[in-house]
Amino acid sequence: MAQRTLPEDDPEIAPFWRAAAEGKLLLKRCDACSKVYYFPRAVCPHCWSRKTSWIGSPGVGRIHSYTVVHLSPGPGFSVPYVLAYVDLDEGVRMLTNIVNCPTDGVEIGMPVKVTFEKLQEKVGVPLFEPAR
Ligand SMILES: [Zn+2]
Repeated sequence: MAQRTLPEDDPEIAPFWRAAAEGKLLLKRCDACSKVYYFPRAVCPHCWSRKTSWIGSPGVGRIHSYTVVHLSPGPGFSVPYVLAYVDLDEGVRMLTNIVNCPTDGVEIGMPVKVTFEKLQEKVGVPLFEPAR
């Protein structure tokens, strides 16, 4: 994969990128309704509460769906790569890339675990690879 575009410098989400740079996956959990959600944001998408907390995730799940991208969408992408939805055990779905696996080795339902690509000192990106 070529150099990825850095995420927006948003203090609301910065802990997510910083944790990924340290090899940790964070999700948000609502203190009001207890639901876990992704993408991380300050307001719960289920009940609109602002009382939310960061929680650690082991980053274990299964591929819900995927596609192999053969045509680069722009600079920073090297093809082919796998774009996938991964369902984590916590019940959230993440849009991500599957790495460390041949593109023809990816299957729906395949168990995967998180891995990380460090882009900068305080910015990492969670990706997924086959669970072995
Ligand atoms: Zn809530």
